[in-house]
Amino acid sequence: MKNFSYSRAGTAPEAISLISTRSQAKYLGGGTNLIDLMRENIEQPDTLVDVTRLGPTGIEETEGGGVRIGAEVRNTAVANDRLIRQRYPLLSQAILFGASGQIRNMATVGGNLMQRTRCYYFYDQASRCNKRDPGSGCDAIEGFNRIHAILGTSQDCIATHPSDMCVALAALDATIHVDGPDGPRGIPFDDFHKLPGDTPHIETTLRPSELITAVELAPLPFASRSMYRKVRDRASYAFALVSVAAALEITDGRILNARLALGGVATKPWRAFEAERILAGAEASEESFVRAAEAELAGAQGYRDNRFKIELAKRTIASALIELARREAKQ
Ligand SMILES: Cc1cc2nc3c(=O)[nH]c(=O)nc-3n(C[C@H](O)[C@H](O)[C@H](O)COP(=O)(O)OP(=O)(O)OC[C@H]3O[C@@H](n4cnc5c(N)ncnc54)[C@H](O)[C@@H]3O)c2cc1C
Ligand code: SF4
Repeated sequence: MKNFSYSRAGTAPEAISLISTRSQAKYLGGGTNLIDLMRENIEQPDTLVDVTRLGPTGIEETEGGGVRIGAEVRNTAVANDRLIRQRYPLLSQAILFGASGQIRNMATVGGNLMQRTRCYYFYDQASRCNKRDPGSGCDAIEGFNRIHAILGTSQDCIATHPSDMCVALAALDATIHVDGPDGPRGIPFDDFHKLPGDTPHIETTLRPSELITAVELAPLPFASRSMYRKVRDRASYAFALVSVAAALEITDGRILNARLALGGVATKPWRAFEAERILAGAEASEESFVRAAEAELAGAQGYRDNRFKIELAKRTIASALIELARREAKQ
Protein backbone atom coordinates (compact mmCIF):
# COMPACT_ATOMS: atom_id res chain seq x y z
CA MET A 1 0.00 0.00 0.00
CA LYS A 2 1.31 3.42 -0.96
CA ASN A 3 2.13 5.85 1.87
CA PHE A 4 -0.36 8.67 2.32
CA SER A 5 -0.95 11.61 4.62
CA TYR A 6 -4.16 12.07 6.60
CA SER A 7 -5.93 15.36 7.46
CA ARG A 8 -9.22 15.89 9.19
CA ALA A 9 -11.23 18.84 7.91
CA GLY A 10 -13.45 20.81 10.31
CA THR A 11 -15.50 22.62 7.66
CA ALA A 12 -16.50 22.12 4.03
CA PRO A 13 -14.36 25.07 2.78
CA GLU A 14 -11.37 23.64 4.66
CA ALA A 15 -11.92 20.20 3.09
CA ILE A 16 -12.24 21.67 -0.41
CA SER A 17 -9.13 23.80 0.05
CA LEU A 18 -7.10 20.82 1.34
CA ILE A 19 -8.14 18.71 -1.66
CA SER A 20 -7.67 21.48 -4.24
CA THR A 21 -4.03 22.05 -3.32
CA ARG A 22 -2.97 18.40 -3.68
CA SER A 23 -3.09 16.60 -6.99
CA GLN A 24 -3.78 13.08 -5.73
CA ALA A 25 -5.90 13.78 -2.67
CA LYS A 26 -9.23 12.07 -1.95
CA TYR A 27 -12.02 12.65 0.51
CA LEU A 28 -12.40 9.95 3.16
CA GLY A 29 -15.82 8.95 4.51
CA GLY A 30 -16.11 5.77 6.57
CA GLY A 31 -13.32 4.22 4.51
CA THR A 32 -15.21 0.95 3.96
CA ASN A 33 -14.66 1.07 0.20
CA LEU A 34 -11.73 3.44 -0.31
CA ILE A 35 -9.37 1.76 2.16
CA ASP A 36 -10.06 -1.66 0.58
CA LEU A 37 -9.23 -0.22 -2.83
CA MET A 38 -6.04 1.36 -1.46
CA ARG A 39 -4.97 -1.98 0.03
CA GLU A 40 -5.32 -3.52 -3.45
CA ASN A 41 -3.44 -0.54 -4.99
CA ILE A 42 -6.43 0.20 -7.22
CA GLU A 43 -6.74 3.65 -5.65
CA GLN A 44 -3.46 5.34 -4.76
CA PRO A 45 -4.13 8.75 -3.21
CA ASP A 46 -1.21 10.51 -1.51
CA THR A 47 -3.54 12.42 0.86
CA LEU A 48 -6.81 11.55 2.56
CA VAL A 49 -9.04 14.36 3.79
CA ASP A 50 -11.43 13.01 6.40
CA VAL A 51 -14.85 14.61 5.87
CA THR A 52 -16.80 12.80 8.57
CA ARG A 53 -16.63 15.70 11.06
CA LEU A 54 -17.57 18.74 9.03
CA GLY A 55 -20.16 19.91 11.53
CA PRO A 56 -23.44 18.63 12.86
CA THR A 57 -25.66 18.83 9.77
CA GLY A 58 -27.49 15.55 10.47
CA ILE A 59 -30.96 14.84 9.11
CA GLU A 60 -33.48 17.67 9.12
CA GLU A 61 -36.84 18.60 7.66
CA THR A 62 -36.68 21.27 4.96
CA GLU A 63 -39.01 24.28 4.80
CA GLY A 64 -40.82 22.73 1.84
CA GLY A 65 -41.64 19.55 3.78
CA GLY A 66 -38.84 17.40 2.39
CA VAL A 67 -35.79 16.03 4.20
CA ARG A 68 -32.12 17.00 3.97
CA ILE A 69 -29.48 14.43 4.92
CA GLY A 70 -25.89 15.57 5.55
CA ALA A 71 -23.31 13.70 3.45
CA GLU A 72 -21.36 12.69 6.55
CA VAL A 73 -24.34 10.96 8.20
CA ARG A 74 -23.69 7.25 8.71
CA ASN A 75 -25.87 4.75 6.81
CA THR A 76 -27.19 3.27 10.07
CA ALA A 77 -28.37 6.69 11.25
CA VAL A 78 -30.23 7.31 7.99
CA ALA A 79 -31.92 3.89 8.06
CA ASN A 80 -33.06 4.32 11.66
CA ASP A 81 -34.15 7.95 11.46
CA ARG A 82 -37.83 8.48 12.32
CA LEU A 83 -38.52 10.89 9.42
CA ILE A 84 -36.91 8.55 6.90
CA ARG A 85 -38.72 5.47 8.21
CA GLN A 86 -42.09 7.22 8.16
CA ARG A 87 -41.83 9.18 4.91
CA TYR A 88 -39.38 7.18 2.80
CA PRO A 89 -39.41 3.56 4.07
CA LEU A 90 -37.90 2.33 0.78
CA LEU A 91 -34.70 4.25 1.64
CA SER A 92 -34.51 2.83 5.15
CA GLN A 93 -35.12 -0.71 3.82
CA ALA A 94 -32.59 -0.33 0.98
CA ILE A 95 -29.85 0.64 3.42
CA LEU A 96 -30.71 -2.14 5.86
CA PHE A 97 -30.56 -4.70 3.02
CA GLY A 98 -26.96 -3.64 2.27
CA ALA A 99 -23.63 -4.79 3.71
CA SER A 100 -23.52 -5.62 7.43
CA GLY A 101 -24.37 -3.73 10.63
CA GLN A 102 -20.71 -2.92 11.26
CA ILE A 103 -20.16 -1.57 7.73
CA ARG A 104 -23.37 0.48 7.84
CA ASN A 105 -22.21 1.99 11.15
CA MET A 106 -19.09 3.31 9.40
CA ALA A 107 -20.34 4.05 5.86
CA THR A 108 -21.45 7.61 5.10
CA VAL A 109 -24.03 8.91 2.64
CA GLY A 110 -21.32 10.64 0.56
CA GLY A 111 -19.18 7.50 0.45
CA ASN A 112 -22.14 5.29 -0.46
CA LEU A 113 -22.93 7.55 -3.43
CA MET A 114 -19.31 7.31 -4.61
CA GLN A 115 -18.64 3.60 -3.92
CA ARG A 116 -17.11 1.73 -6.81
CA THR A 117 -18.16 -1.43 -8.63
CA ARG A 118 -17.64 -4.96 -7.28
CA CYS A 119 -16.67 -6.35 -10.73
CA TYR A 120 -14.09 -9.09 -9.99
CA TYR A 121 -11.85 -7.99 -12.85
CA PHE A 122 -11.74 -4.41 -11.54
CA TYR A 123 -10.18 -5.75 -8.34
CA ASP A 124 -7.78 -8.13 -10.11
CA GLN A 125 -4.66 -6.27 -11.26
CA ALA A 126 -3.82 -9.16 -13.64
CA SER A 127 -7.04 -8.62 -15.64
CA ARG A 128 -7.81 -6.09 -18.33
CA CYS A 129 -10.19 -3.42 -17.07
CA ASN A 130 -11.08 -0.14 -18.79
CA LYS A 131 -12.37 1.31 -15.55
CA ARG A 132 -9.10 0.70 -13.66
CA ASP A 133 -6.77 1.15 -16.62
CA PRO A 134 -8.51 3.13 -19.43
CA GLY A 135 -7.98 1.64 -22.90
CA SER A 136 -6.75 -1.75 -21.64
CA GLY A 137 -9.93 -3.70 -22.51
CA CYS A 138 -12.64 -5.45 -20.51
CA ASP A 139 -12.19 -9.05 -19.40
CA ALA A 140 -15.74 -9.26 -18.07
CA ILE A 141 -17.48 -9.07 -21.45
CA GLU A 142 -16.17 -12.48 -22.56
CA GLY A 143 -15.48 -13.69 -19.03
CA PHE A 144 -17.46 -14.75 -15.97
CA ASN A 145 -20.17 -12.11 -15.90
CA ARG A 146 -22.94 -13.49 -13.72
CA ILE A 147 -23.06 -10.38 -11.50
CA HIS A 148 -22.75 -7.91 -14.35
CA ALA A 149 -25.19 -5.47 -15.92
CA ILE A 150 -27.88 -5.98 -18.55
CA LEU A 151 -28.93 -2.32 -18.82
CA GLY A 152 -26.83 0.74 -19.65
CA THR A 153 -23.81 -1.30 -20.72
CA SER A 154 -21.27 -0.34 -23.39
CA GLN A 155 -18.66 -2.22 -25.37
CA ASP A 156 -16.11 -0.91 -22.88
CA CYS A 157 -17.72 -1.80 -19.54
CA ILE A 158 -20.63 -3.89 -18.21
CA ALA A 159 -20.05 -3.42 -14.48
CA THR A 160 -23.05 -2.90 -12.20
CA HIS A 161 -23.35 -0.06 -9.75
CA PRO A 162 -23.34 -1.81 -6.37
CA SER A 163 -25.28 0.52 -4.08
CA ASP A 164 -28.68 -0.31 -2.59
CA MET A 165 -29.13 3.14 -1.06
CA CYS A 166 -28.70 4.78 -4.47
CA VAL A 167 -31.55 2.73 -5.98
CA ALA A 168 -33.95 4.19 -3.42
CA LEU A 169 -32.53 7.69 -4.01
CA ALA A 170 -33.06 7.23 -7.77
CA ALA A 171 -36.73 6.33 -7.21
CA LEU A 172 -37.10 9.35 -4.92
CA ASP A 173 -35.46 11.64 -7.49
CA ALA A 174 -33.14 13.04 -4.81
CA THR A 175 -30.98 16.12 -5.32
CA ILE A 176 -27.28 15.79 -4.55
CA HIS A 177 -25.88 19.00 -3.07
CA VAL A 178 -22.19 19.60 -3.70
CA ASP A 179 -19.71 22.38 -3.00
CA GLY A 180 -16.39 23.09 -4.65
CA PRO A 181 -13.98 25.67 -6.04
CA ASP A 182 -16.79 27.07 -8.27
CA GLY A 183 -19.31 27.26 -5.41
CA PRO A 184 -22.30 25.13 -4.40
CA ARG A 185 -24.72 23.47 -6.83
CA GLY A 186 -27.43 20.82 -6.82
CA ILE A 187 -27.33 17.80 -9.13
CA PRO A 188 -30.53 15.88 -9.99
CA PHE A 189 -29.98 12.26 -8.98
CA ASP A 190 -30.32 10.83 -12.48
CA ASP A 191 -27.55 13.18 -13.70
CA PHE A 192 -25.12 12.28 -10.91
CA HIS A 193 -23.94 8.79 -12.02
CA LYS A 194 -22.78 8.42 -15.62
CA LEU A 195 -23.29 5.55 -18.04
CA PRO A 196 -19.92 3.98 -18.91
CA GLY A 197 -19.90 4.78 -22.65
CA ASP A 198 -16.27 4.85 -23.77
CA THR A 199 -15.08 6.44 -20.51
CA PRO A 200 -16.05 3.94 -17.78
CA HIS A 201 -13.40 5.38 -15.46
CA ILE A 202 -15.47 8.60 -15.21
CA GLU A 203 -18.32 7.49 -12.98
CA THR A 204 -20.04 10.69 -11.87
CA THR A 205 -20.56 14.29 -12.92
CA LEU A 206 -18.76 15.52 -9.80
CA ARG A 207 -16.10 18.07 -10.82
CA PRO A 208 -12.51 17.98 -9.54
CA SER A 209 -12.32 18.80 -5.79
CA GLU A 210 -16.10 18.93 -5.41
CA LEU A 211 -17.41 17.69 -2.08
CA ILE A 212 -20.84 16.11 -1.62
CA THR A 213 -22.44 18.04 1.23
CA ALA A 214 -26.00 16.69 1.41
CA VAL A 215 -28.80 14.74 -0.22
CA GLU A 216 -32.23 16.34 -0.37
CA LEU A 217 -35.50 14.44 -0.70
CA ALA A 218 -38.53 16.33 -1.98
CA PRO A 219 -41.86 15.71 -0.30
CA LEU A 220 -43.56 12.66 -1.85
CA PRO A 221 -46.57 11.67 0.29
CA PHE A 222 -47.19 8.31 -1.45
CA ALA A 223 -43.59 7.25 -0.70
CA SER A 224 -44.72 6.64 2.89
CA ARG A 225 -46.04 3.27 1.63
CA SER A 226 -43.04 2.44 -0.57
CA MET A 227 -40.84 -0.66 -0.51
CA TYR A 228 -37.43 -2.05 -1.46
CA ARG A 229 -37.08 -5.66 -2.60
CA LYS A 230 -33.64 -7.26 -3.02
CA VAL A 231 -32.89 -10.63 -4.64
CA ARG A 232 -29.43 -12.00 -3.85
CA ASP A 233 -27.49 -15.24 -3.54
CA ARG A 234 -27.50 -15.18 0.29
CA ALA A 235 -30.12 -13.80 2.64
CA SER A 236 -27.65 -11.28 4.07
CA TYR A 237 -24.30 -9.67 3.38
CA ALA A 238 -24.53 -9.98 -0.40
CA PHE A 239 -24.88 -7.51 -3.25
CA ALA A 240 -28.10 -7.51 -5.29
CA LEU A 241 -28.63 -9.71 -8.32
CA VAL A 242 -31.76 -7.64 -8.85
CA SER A 243 -33.35 -5.05 -6.61
CA VAL A 244 -36.44 -2.89 -6.95
CA ALA A 245 -37.34 0.35 -5.18
CA ALA A 246 -41.00 1.14 -5.74
CA ALA A 247 -43.79 3.49 -4.71
CA LEU A 248 -47.33 3.63 -6.09
CA GLU A 249 -50.08 6.19 -5.66
CA ILE A 250 -53.39 4.42 -6.33
CA THR A 251 -56.90 5.86 -6.27
CA ASP A 252 -60.03 3.86 -7.11
CA GLY A 253 -57.96 1.05 -8.59
CA ARG A 254 -55.98 3.36 -10.92
CA ILE A 255 -52.33 4.33 -10.63
CA LEU A 256 -51.93 8.11 -10.38
CA ASN A 257 -48.17 8.06 -9.93
CA ALA A 258 -45.42 5.46 -9.90
CA ARG A 259 -41.80 5.59 -8.87
CA LEU A 260 -39.59 2.68 -9.80
CA ALA A 261 -35.83 2.11 -9.82
CA LEU A 262 -33.67 -0.98 -10.28
CA GLY A 263 -30.40 -2.15 -8.75
CA GLY A 264 -28.05 -5.04 -9.52
CA VAL A 265 -28.88 -4.94 -13.23
CA ALA A 266 -27.49 -1.66 -14.54
CA THR A 267 -24.28 0.31 -14.82
CA LYS A 268 -25.82 3.07 -12.72
CA PRO A 269 -28.74 3.22 -10.28
CA TRP A 270 -31.52 2.73 -12.83
CA ARG A 271 -34.63 4.85 -12.76
CA ALA A 272 -37.26 2.86 -14.66
CA PHE A 273 -38.72 5.77 -16.62
CA GLU A 274 -40.36 3.60 -19.28
CA ALA A 275 -42.14 1.44 -16.71
CA GLU A 276 -43.27 4.55 -14.81
CA ARG A 277 -44.69 5.99 -18.03
CA ILE A 278 -46.74 2.85 -18.68
CA LEU A 279 -47.95 2.62 -15.08
CA ALA A 280 -49.17 6.23 -14.84
CA GLY A 281 -52.95 6.17 -15.43
CA ALA A 282 -53.11 2.38 -15.82
CA GLU A 283 -55.30 0.03 -13.83
CA ALA A 284 -53.49 -1.26 -10.73
CA SER A 285 -53.46 -4.86 -11.93
CA GLU A 286 -50.97 -7.65 -12.44
CA GLU A 287 -51.39 -7.25 -16.19
CA SER A 288 -50.25 -3.58 -16.02
CA PHE A 289 -47.32 -4.44 -13.77
CA VAL A 290 -46.11 -7.20 -16.10
CA ARG A 291 -46.51 -4.89 -19.12
CA ALA A 292 -44.46 -2.17 -17.40
CA ALA A 293 -41.74 -4.67 -16.47
CA GLU A 294 -41.59 -6.06 -20.02
CA ALA A 295 -41.27 -2.55 -21.45
CA GLU A 296 -38.49 -1.55 -19.06
CA LEU A 297 -36.45 -4.65 -19.86
CA ALA A 298 -37.12 -4.56 -23.61
CA GLY A 299 -33.69 -3.02 -24.25
CA ALA A 300 -31.78 -5.28 -21.84
CA GLN A 301 -28.75 -7.15 -23.18
CA GLY A 302 -27.69 -10.36 -21.46
CA TYR A 303 -24.17 -11.78 -21.55
CA ARG A 304 -22.96 -15.38 -21.20
CA ASP A 305 -23.72 -15.87 -17.49
CA ASN A 306 -26.24 -13.17 -16.63
CA ARG A 307 -29.13 -13.63 -19.08
CA PHE A 308 -31.22 -14.97 -16.20
CA LYS A 309 -31.32 -11.43 -14.80
CA ILE A 310 -33.67 -10.27 -17.56
CA GLU A 311 -36.50 -12.58 -16.47
CA LEU A 312 -35.59 -12.20 -12.80
CA ALA A 313 -35.82 -8.40 -13.06
CA LYS A 314 -39.24 -8.59 -14.73
CA ARG A 315 -40.58 -10.93 -12.07
CA THR A 316 -39.11 -8.91 -9.22
CA ILE A 317 -40.67 -5.71 -10.53
CA ALA A 318 -44.07 -7.36 -10.98
CA SER A 319 -44.04 -9.03 -7.56
CA ALA A 320 -43.01 -5.82 -5.78
CA LEU A 321 -45.78 -3.84 -7.49
CA ILE A 322 -48.38 -6.54 -6.77
CA GLU A 323 -47.41 -6.42 -3.12
CA LEU A 324 -47.64 -2.61 -3.02
CA ALA A 325 -51.05 -2.67 -4.71
CA ARG A 326 -52.31 -5.28 -2.19
CA ARG A 327 -51.17 -3.08 0.68
CA GLU A 328 -52.93 -0.06 -0.87
CA ALA A 329 -56.14 -2.04 -1.23
CA LYS A 330 -56.05 -2.85 2.50
CA GLN A 331 -55.68 0.85 3.50
C1 LIG B 1 -18.08 -6.61 2.62
C2 LIG B 1 -18.89 -5.48 2.08
C3 LIG B 1 -20.21 -5.71 1.70
C4 LIG B 1 -20.97 -4.65 1.19
N1 LIG B 1 -22.27 -4.90 0.82
C5 LIG B 1 -23.01 -3.87 0.31
C6 LIG B 1 -24.35 -4.07 -0.13
O1 LIG B 1 -24.90 -5.18 -0.05
N2 LIG B 1 -25.03 -3.01 -0.62
C7 LIG B 1 -24.46 -1.77 -0.71
O2 LIG B 1 -25.12 -0.84 -1.15
N3 LIG B 1 -23.20 -1.56 -0.33
C8 LIG B 1 -22.47 -2.57 0.17
N4 LIG B 1 -21.17 -2.35 0.54
C9 LIG B 1 -20.55 -1.07 0.22
C10 LIG B 1 -20.74 -0.02 1.27
O3 LIG B 1 -22.06 0.43 1.24
C11 LIG B 1 -19.76 1.11 0.89
O4 LIG B 1 -18.46 0.62 1.13
C12 LIG B 1 -20.01 2.35 1.71
O5 LIG B 1 -21.28 2.87 1.46
C13 LIG B 1 -18.98 3.42 1.34
O6 LIG B 1 -19.13 4.50 2.25
P1 LIG B 1 -17.88 5.07 3.04
O7 LIG B 1 -18.33 6.28 3.78
O8 LIG B 1 -17.18 4.04 3.82
O9 LIG B 1 -16.98 5.54 1.79
P2 LIG B 1 -15.40 5.64 1.66
O10 LIG B 1 -14.84 4.27 1.48
O11 LIG B 1 -14.83 6.48 2.72
O12 LIG B 1 -15.31 6.44 0.29
C14 LIG B 1 -15.80 5.92 -0.92
C15 LIG B 1 -15.59 7.00 -2.00
O13 LIG B 1 -16.40 8.13 -1.71
C16 LIG B 1 -15.62 9.33 -1.75
N5 LIG B 1 -16.26 10.23 -0.79
C17 LIG B 1 -16.58 9.96 0.51
N6 LIG B 1 -17.25 11.01 1.03
C18 LIG B 1 -17.35 11.95 0.05
C19 LIG B 1 -17.95 13.25 -0.03
N7 LIG B 1 -18.58 13.80 1.01
N8 LIG B 1 -17.85 13.92 -1.20
C20 LIG B 1 -17.21 13.38 -2.27
N9 LIG B 1 -16.65 12.16 -2.26
C21 LIG B 1 -16.72 11.46 -1.11
C22 LIG B 1 -14.23 8.87 -1.36
O14 LIG B 1 -13.22 9.75 -1.84
C23 LIG B 1 -14.15 7.51 -2.07
O15 LIG B 1 -13.82 7.70 -3.42
C24 LIG B 1 -20.40 -3.37 1.08
C25 LIG B 1 -19.08 -3.15 1.48
C26 LIG B 1 -18.33 -4.17 1.97
C27 LIG B 1 -16.91 -3.91 2.38
S1 SF4 C 1 -16.93 -4.63 -16.62
FE1 SF4 C 1 -16.03 -2.60 -16.30
S2 SF4 C 1 -15.11 -2.79 -14.27
FE2 SF4 C 1 -15.41 -4.89 -15.03
S3 SF4 C 1 -13.56 -5.46 -16.18
FE3 SF4 C 1 -14.93 -4.56 -17.64
S4 SF4 C 1 -14.28 -2.42 -17.68
FE4 SF4 C 1 -13.51 -3.27 -15.79
